[in-house]
Amino acid sequence: MHRFFALLLLSLTFVCCIGLSAPAKAADAASAYATAKKELESLKRDSRRGALREPWERVVSRFDGVVREHPRWPNVPAAMFHGALAKKELASRSFRTADFEDAARRFERVAATYGWHVLADDALLHAADIRGNRLGDVAASRKLLDSILTRYPSGDMAEPARDLLAALSGAPGGDAPKAPVVVGRSGRLEQDDDAPASAAGDSARSAGGGVAVASASDGVPAPKAPAKAKKGARSDPAKAAKLYAEARKELEAVRGDARRAALREPWLRVMALYEGARDAAPEGELAPNAAYGMAVAQEELAARSWRKDDFLAAVARYNDVVSAYPEDSLADDCMLRAARLRATRLDDAEGAHQLLEAQLRRYPKGDMAGEARALLADLTAARVTVSAQPGKAAAPAVSASPASPAPARGGKPAVLRQVSWRADNDRATITIELSRETEWRSQYAAPDNGAGRPPRLYIDFSDALPDDAVKPGAKVSGALLTRVRSDQPSSGHTRVILDFKALRRYKVQAVRNPYRVVIEVGATDAALPDGQRPDDSRVSVPVREADKATPSVPPKDLVEQLGLTVHTVLIDAGHGGKDPGAMGNGIVERNLTLKMARMVGDRLRRMGFSVIYTRDRDVFVPLDKRTAYANDKKADLFLSLHVNANNDPRICGFETYYLDLARTDSATRVAARENAVSEKSLSDLQFILTDLMLNAKTQESRDVANFVQDSALGRLRRGGFPAHDNGVRSAPFYVLMGARMPSVLVELGYCTNPDEARRLNSDQYLSTLADGIAEGVATYKRKLARFSQ
Ligand SMILES: [Zn+2]
Repeated sequence: MHRFFALLLLSLTFVCCIGLSAPAKAADAASAYATAKKELESLKRDSRRGALREPWERVVSRFDGVVREHPRWPNVPAAMFHGALAKKELASRSFRTADFEDAARRFERVAATYGWHVLADDALLHAADIRGNRLGDVAASRKLLDSILTRYPSGDMAEPARDLLAALSGAPGGDAPKAPVVVGRSGRLEQDDDAPASAAGDSARSAGGGVAVASASDGVPAPKAPAKAKKGARSDPAKAAKLYAEARKELEAVRGDARRAALREPWLRVMALYEGARDAAPEGELAPNAAYGMAVAQEELAARSWRKDDFLAAVARYNDVVSAYPEDSLADDCMLRAARLRATRLDDAEGAHQLLEAQLRRYPKGDMAGEARALLADLTAARVTVSAQPGKAAAPAVSASPASPAPARGGKPAVLRQVSWRADNDRATITIELSRETEWRSQYAAPDNGAGRPPRLYIDFSDALPDDAVKPGAKVSGALLTRVRSDQPSSGHTRVILDFKALRRYKVQAVRNPYRVVIEVGATDAALPDGQRPDDSRVSVPVREADKATPSVPPKDLVEQLGLTVHTVLIDAGHGGKDPGAMGNGIVERNLTLKMARMVGDRLRRMGFSVIYTRDRDVFVPLDKRTAYANDKKADLFLSLHVNANNDPRICGFETYYLDLARTDSATRVAARENAVSEKSLSDLQFILTDLMLNAKTQESRDVANFVQDSALGRLRRGGFPAHDNGVRSAPFYVLMGARMPSVLVELGYCTNPDEARRLNSDQYLSTLADGIAEGVATYKRKLARFSQ
């Protein structure tokens, strides 16, 4: 034991001494950037210091320093952009042509070098604004604006670009336009603070309403001009970011604590935090999200209090977001969610109709349009059904779960929208999607050879109707699941019948957003450790606990919508060369990750993937080079492999990470260790992560992480290995930052746990684990392929 601790201590010291050079560089970049940004914000608010030239030049050179010293750091485009912004701020105070020239050139350089970055069109708009409005070069300005419209026609700068073009054409001859239209930080047109309002400026602004211009007579929120900070109101983005992060953390905490979630006060506190975040910087980039967060928290409160006024308040909050931020990408989400509340919780089908129609009118191409149409169709179908069966009594409530409150009954049955499945020879997952929450029961029927009945599961919905598409059912060939169909034994009662080749274990649970019942079936005993055995034939009830894992924001999987797929997987063997990584019980991380990288890579190749590696031998590769390489090679998926360590030798298990703010202390510790920085500098990282997240494929990455985690654990358990499931987590890992493809980081296990270390030393264990990881990637690809058909 003593020897073990001594070894552990030695190995930790070793990591500290050796792992410093490259990761510390990335940490330097992050903190230098954070400092520069803080200084820029404080300077903008400090009129005394802001009137001087020198402090601005210092901020500009701080951003320049980040770009010069850390050219491969993923957030370099944002650093360049903010350097340009600082220069523009200086120019608008010095009024020197040379300053404006320099600022314009800086913005143009951002757009030219990082055309793919989300800030590219913002940069072009700023450059156009300076050239047209400050330097009097209308032709150059027009050219820049045209390139926004051709290169980023659906970007959020397209509308302001059109407005600026219109404003410029009102000022022919190349004179500096009379209307001092300037581009704000958010890129929206606004009146210069120290210039008198002018007619031209006003018309430019009202045109800037764009999609927002719709009549208020449709019973839906009247859109206003983009929220503008009141004169003299302080905007404090740092405070906003801090409160926003706090609000999100608190929201997760309340969701995860059934006792607190049942109270009113914790939800009010979450809302207050979001409100604080919004008000700290009402024009900041987080403001719409903060306002949205308030509405989500209110909705979750309502879902627990079952009070009508709470549901009404949630609808009102969603409407507030639409009014204040009509051009934000969350606006159509809000309209959809408000409509859903009206339809399912407030028994207001008419109001829901109006909202949905308004949504489709305003955001016909929004990513929520499909769901809006589906809900609209459901509402219409429900109306027809009800009028066709006027005498139908409300189905009796099945008190399947006394612990859970009965779902709201709008008098209309729920609609079974879709039954989908994923099945191979020994496992199947069937998902039944519904238009709203409703009661259900599951029942197992043992096979009966005489009657020709295979193993069968019945899922009964006491108050639901199948959609037309669901009614005929389907035969499934060649997999564990053989047949899916639906039946209506009595009015309002729908039964889904699932036939299997074999059935050893099954698990049925409900998941929200959208509401669906998920059935998992295993053909072997080991497949579903938590599942029910058919012989303990008890009746399942909706499992509310399962809801916790579901994010409240409906996933918007752009990859799926675009029908993209995975061809090239980049496998990143963690650490290497002078950086050994974690060590313990004879395991050295850099060696084990390299071995696993090859094993996973071989399997993926055999499955038909093209595989590349950040390293194929024991060599040191800086963290920022790894994602840069993945971007250069245009990989479709980034898979980083690591071995975990903890001071407590009892800690063990397998976990998969995606890039986001850390939600737990243990995730923070793992990220701090892998980044080789202190937990304190990690908080700086969380601060700047908001910028990085603009490009992160968070939802896709989370999907990949879930598939990898599930199939790896499934394989291990089927292989008879004890495997501790630490789940899917998020944390800010440098090595995932800046990746332009979905990216996950797998912690294979804890080398500091003697039992796990023994397993990690066994080829049979590693081989099973590699099978599982590769299978997870393949499952993700299959999921994408299904959507692109
Ligand atoms: Zn590592």
